[in-house]
Amino acid sequence: MTTFGVTVNGLHKKFGENEVLKGIDLDVRPGEVVCIIGPSGSGKSTLLRSMNLLEVPSSGSIRVGDDEITDIRTDINAVRSHIGMVFQSFNLFPHMTVERNITVALERVKSVGKEEAKRIALDRLREVGLEAKASSRPFNLSGGQQQRVAIARALAMQPGIMLFDEVTSALDPELVKGVLNIMMKLASEGMTMVVVTHEMGFARQVADRVVFMDAGRIVEQGPPEQIFGDPQSPRLRSFLSEVL
Ligand code: ADP
Ligand code: MG
Repeated sequence: MTTFGVTVNGLHKKFGENEVLKGIDLDVRPGEVVCIIGPSGSGKSTLLRSMNLLEVPSSGSIRVGDDEITDIRTDINAVRSHIGMVFQSFNLFPHMTVERNITVALERVKSVGKEEAKRIALDRLREVGLEAKASSRPFNLSGGQQQRVAIARALAMQPGIMLFDEVTSALDPELVKGVLNIMMKLASEGMTMVVVTHEMGFARQVADRVVFMDAGRIVEQGPPEQIFGDPQSPRLRSFLSEVL
């Protein structure tokens, strides 16, 4: 697996008059797992979505691997095919089987042949424990299973980085663990991961670095022991006292 980093420099994002990112600098090294925590509305999703240009920055630059994605000369669709993203809402195609959900992008975006696409899909489904569900439709799966399919689908594209935006927030508590375990395994395999999460246990255990955002800024960052064990800023302390 060739995995790569992300460098965000001086990122600002406005929605109308509302500036939601107020100068973000963040360097994620290849193979690093960075968890982003912070209160609702602090700009976590906007930052993550900026990393594959689902949001276009108002100013600043973002480099993903060797590609300056904020440069208008960059072929963003080519870059996006190397960036895996999983959302809170699983975003599976409801009218397609689980297997087809995975093969469709392989065939259309990567021009992989049908047989090969099927083999890749079944391999990825096996890794998330859902090979037996290949012919099911998403609505016949639990939320946790759907989310595991969404992860398998992202991984089938052989991404160099994975972006996760609160992927367990919509799940019943008993389904959270299965999804987190897959993410943990991926991290241990060396995948670069940027994970927006409310799961403080996951961040503490898996993150190489935890980034705390508030009101459009990175307020504090560091290794999990430091962020959770010795928070410096009053805002981080008060956030942790609410969520832990
Ligand atoms: P978080 O993920 O930390 O909860 P978001 O990045 O989703 O925060 O949102 C940050 C702010 O940007 C919020 O005030 C939100 O209302 C606003 N915002 C997000 N997306 C849009 C949009 N497409 N249009 C207008 N405002 C938006
Ligand atoms: Mg969000």
